[in-house]
Formats: sequence, C-alpha cells, structure tokens
Amino acid sequence: MKGRKLLMIPGPIEFEPEVLQAMSIPTPSHVAPNFIACFGHCLEMMRKVWLCPDGQPFIVAGSGTLAMDLAGANLIEPGDQALVVSSGYFGQRFAHLLRRYGAEGDILEAAPGELVPLEQVEAALAAKNYKLMTFTHVDTSTGVRTDAQALGALGQQYNTLTILDGVCSVAGERIHQQEWGIDVVLTASQKAISVPPGLALLVVSPRAMQAWQQRRSPVGNYYADWHNWLPIMQAYEDRKPAYFGTPAVNLIMALEVSLKQILAEGMEARFKRHAHIAHAFREAMQALAIMMLPAEKAAAANTLTAAFYPEGVDGNQFRAAVSQAGVIIAGGLLADLKSQYFRVGHMGPVNQNDLLATVGAIEAALHHCGYPYDTSAGSKAAKAALLADF
Ligand code: PMP
Repeated sequence: MKGRKLLMIPGPIEFEPEVLQAMSIPTPSHVAPNFIACFGHCLEMMRKVWLCPDGQPFIVAGSGTLAMDLAGANLIEPGDQALVVSSGYFGQRFAHLLRRYGAEGDILEAAPGELVPLEQVEAALAAKNYKLMTFTHVDTSTGVRTDAQALGALGQQYNTLTILDGVCSVAGERIHQQEWGIDVVLTASQKAISVPPGLALLVVSPRAMQAWQQRRSPVGNYYADWHNWLPIMQAYEDRKPAYFGTPAVNLIMALEVSLKQILAEGMEARFKRHAHIAHAFREAMQALAIMMLPAEKAAAANTLTAAFYPEGVDGNQFRAAVSQAGVIIAGGLLADLKSQYFRVGHMGPVNQNDLLATVGAIEAALHHCGYPYDTSAGSKAAKAALLADF
C-alpha cells in the first residue's frame, strides 16, 4: 500500500513533478547567463499571470509575510493614514505590520465567515483621506473571498492606494490587477503559484511606484527596501548580472516552470477550473450536511473551503481519521473558533481525482466518528457537480 498521503491543506500544496525536478539540479551561479535568462523570464511572465502589463514585478526570497512587508514598508511613512479591510487572521496581521512602520488609521473587521460590507468601506474612505487600503482577497482563516474588483474601484475613486493580499488567491482566483486598478498584488510561492515555500512575489502599479519615489523618509526595513531590489529586477529583466541579496536560485528555476505551466493552461481556464473544483467540493459538503464558514455562497473562495465539524464529531479524531484514509487537511486558524472547524485547500494543480479522494477520506472519517447520516452522499454530489457543465 502506498505510504504517501495527499496534501490538501491551504498551502503548501501538492506540486507538479516538473516543478520539483527543476529545483533538484546543481545550483548555478546567480549571475550565470542561463539563470539571468530564467529570472528575467519569470518577471515577464508574472505580468501576464497578474494581468498587469504595466506593473513592476518583484521576486524576493522569503515567505508571504515578507511580500506583505515589501508592500507595507515601502508605501507607509510614519503618520500615514491606512485602512485595513479585514476578513480574518491575515487582515489583522496587515494591521500589525503597517503599525510597525508608523501607520495610523483604522481597521474594519468582519465577523468570522463574513465580509466587511462595501458600503462600510466606502463610508470610511469618504470620511477620511487614507493613503492606502489593504484587503485580503481570500482570508485563509475563513475561506471568504472579498470583492477585489469593487475594492480596487473604490481605491481609484477615492485616490487611495490599494494592496491586495493575494497569498491565497493569485493564480487561483480571478484577478485583473491593471483593469481593476489595484496597486499592489502580492503572494507567496507555496499556494496557487505552485512552487515550494520560499518566494515572496508582488507586482506594483506605476501609481504606487510613484508614491514610493515621492517618500520623504527612508524605508523602515533594510531588506525589504525597493531601493535595493528595483535595480536588481530591472537588471535581470535586461538580462544583465546584478546583486543585492543572493536570490533563491533553485526556487526561481522552479518558478519559471510553474509560471509556464500556468500560462499554458491560460488564466481564464485556470480561474474556471478552480471555481468548478471548489463548487464540486462545496456540493459534497452540503450533501453531507456539513456547514461551511462563509455566510454567503457568493463569498466562498475557490482556493480553499473552511467548514464546521458536524455536531458530535470530535475535530482531532476526525482529522486523524481523514489522515488515516490518506489525505491531510488542516484544522482551524481563527483563535475563537479554532477547535470548531477544518480547512481543505483545493488550488494549483489540484484535479478531480484529488478532490474525489478528499471527499472519500472525509466520508470515511465521518463514518469512523459515528456520523449518523449517509456518508456516501458527498462523493455522489461531487461527481455529479464535476460531470455537469460549469
Ligand atoms: N496572507 C494570507 C492570506 C495567507 O494565507 C498567508 C499564509 N497562510 C499569509 C498571508 C502569510 O504567508 P506566509 O505564511 O508565507 O508568510
């Protein structure tokens, strides 16, 4: 029997063998001609994946939190007003981070599983002159997706820079950065970008680059300072050697393979595949009478699902039984509800087989936990949803 389990947490995810193989070659110099070409190619492809032809891409070694730092440290000066639109754990993180760089301002906090109403965001923007606004596209703690297009439009309307935390959405959820007028779209490698953890990735609009150029005070973070990184990105794109901090060479070689795969699938097709798979998973949960966190279907993310343990089912016992059935899922993340819900990631190369295996493992675990309902209803519903036109 295979010992290997299917990793279905909301990042890191299961990666394509070609991506992993690209990492396992002897490390070239960071200024070797073939690596310079690879780095430059990645920057060019990022503009296409982000749908932001005029943006400035950055690739820096670090996790998603560094991507948040790269945006916050460079765009905030002490005393700047910032608005954080939070739908969970990672919105709160952005508020802490911006405060560290001297930001003042406000946080609009949604109840778990809910969104901050757009009217409330608009009222805040109308009442005060904010320099920037952050929002989490998909908050990985709740599985809720904000309306990025509408928030981007509000940012344009009120002349407020917008930062989209897309760690759990870029290359999975539909984002048209340029068309939607979003100034920074940031992510990390280990989620829908489909490369092992270790790369902070962002694309910055000309408007935000200009705001950064007009700073009056130095950037309050040495490693994250765009003054250090912009010349490096420009040099690699011009196919010239450059050095500030040693790039994560093997990860960037893997990124080139993954971005090529993403563009070969096509962004629209990729967004649609994620939506279809997520829909099938939610249909399965519904058929099993499992309640999901997002209060409204329209606000449910396509990259992960957060769902409550059914009454009478112990979370630890349930997750252990899912693992016993060959699939790893994640527990809760929100401090107050941690023990009441679980999370399943379905992004990146995820396919129908992965989804059906996951639903099957959940059914087996429910059966093991003595769930008193028909535990085959989920697979049936998922199959029907996968077969149906979408
Ligand atoms: N934002 C969101 C929405 C996330 O899901 C995560 C990671 N789960 C982060 C930020 C932070 O990323 P990292 O753990 O890579 O630092």
